[in-house]
Amino acid sequence: MTLTTTQDFMPTRTAGLERLARFIPVAGTDYARFRNYDLGAGQHGHVSTLSPWIRHRLLTETEVLQSILTRHSPAAAEKFVQEVFWRTYWKGWLEMRPSVWDIYQAGLRGALDAVQTQSGLRAAWADACKGQTGIDAFDHWAQELVQTGYLHNHARMWFASIWIFTLRLPWELGADFFLRHLLDGDPASNTLSWRWVAGLQTQGKTYLARPDNIETYTKGRFRPKGLASIAVPLEGQVTPRQPLPAAEQADPTSATVCILHDDDLSPGFLFEQGIAPIATACLITTHQRSPLHVAPHLTDFVSGAMTDATTRWADRIGEVYTPITDTALLADWVRGHGAKQVVTPYAPVGPNASALRALAALLAPDGIRLIRLRRDYDSAAWPHATAGFFKFKDKIPKLLGEVKGITLV
Ligand SMILES: Cc1cc2nc3c(=O)[nH]c(=O)nc-3n(C[C@H](O)[C@H](O)[C@H](O)COP(=O)(O)OP(=O)(O)OC[C@H]3O[C@@H](n4cnc5c(N)ncnc54)[C@H](O)[C@@H]3O)c2cc1C
Repeated sequence: MTLTTTQDFMPTRTAGLERLARFIPVAGTDYARFRNYDLGAGQHGHVSTLSPWIRHRLLTETEVLQSILTRHSPAAAEKFVQEVFWRTYWKGWLEMRPSVWDIYQAGLRGALDAVQTQSGLRAAWADACKGQTGIDAFDHWAQELVQTGYLHNHARMWFASIWIFTLRLPWELGADFFLRHLLDGDPASNTLSWRWVAGLQTQGKTYLARPDNIETYTKGRFRPKGLASIAVPLEGQVTPRQPLPAAEQADPTSATVCILHDDDLSPGFLFEQGIAPIATACLITTHQRSPLHVAPHLTDFVSGAMTDATTRWADRIGEVYTPITDTALLADWVRGHGAKQVVTPYAPVGPNASALRALAALLAPDGIRLIRLRRDYDSAAWPHATAGFFKFKDKIPKLLGEVKGITLV
């Protein structure tokens, strides 16, 4: 499998399904043995590279798991299944602690202010983003990310660790650099993984990038010098857990418009519930993943993915409105259709959830309800994200048995 530019990630479900089909044969014991090796851009065949499609739900977790478990036993595919559930775990964890996203955003604003006033910090941050620090491995990963929109998981861990503990840059600036470039950039997986490396997520536990580990798992491509030899945990606030929002129900008999967004571009499950929209609009919030400009490959991927979704479902979604970023305009559009309810796939914590909350407030005075329909998979799994992943992991066999769409064969 070659993968050298952002062009290798086509924003269509078909391209995602093709990538999945190519990966299935190696998703069992091969994945378990080799997944930690980062062999560089164009050589990521030991992992699936499915994350841009899963992130935007051009492919759903359920169907990816189903496909893998059709070919491999749960024991053989255990490692891959667990990785998919890491994503689910992070989503559920943040859903029950939404203030962690707000705290990250406030920290990022503070760090960007500091960048404006401290020239040393500004230069160090710019060098890190351009891949000009002099640490060869780190510089390579910065450039790979910018050029391809993807980084191997191990490279993300090393990169974040060097950013925080060797370069001593604010972790929020690193998380933001990822969100501006990653095609799979995700409020939960990204923020919580950076917090995990920094020692903020699992209290007192940090991740230290070590030269020998990098040398082993890059097959000798890198053995960086001058890395920090200790990683003292950063200090942060303890955030209380709150209950998950209750699942909502739509009324299939009510005049309905639909809103699609980039957290879930497989709206078929809405139509299975009898929803027949008069019209559909696409909400665009990609530019809100960062206060800075996000990479053009990212906005292109999302707009291509939306076109793909509306084309695939053209016969079920009614008239399609041009993609829209402004919630006030969106509210006018809803009213203009005489809708009594707006139905949308549930948006987990992040820019879409914030925009939909604002829209709900604008529509409420007119008695128009915004219904966020959550998938059974999320409703079943998220409540278990109460503590660490290892507790959550024990629930995976039960979840695989319960969730509609996964049949063990
Ligand atoms: C600092 C840091 C930042 C990260 N930021 C993101 C992010 O913004 N978005 C994102 O999707 N992942 C993020 N990850 C997790 C992980 O690195 C990627 O999901 C994975 O590398 C994607 O490549 P893949 O599809 O080839 O993964 P595979 O190994 O093939 O895994 C299959 C799928 O499982 C999920 N997955 C795998 N590993 C993880 C993990 N550790 N955490 C969460 N989900 C996982 C992804 O959906 C992935 O597509 C981050 C990890 C770190 C250390």
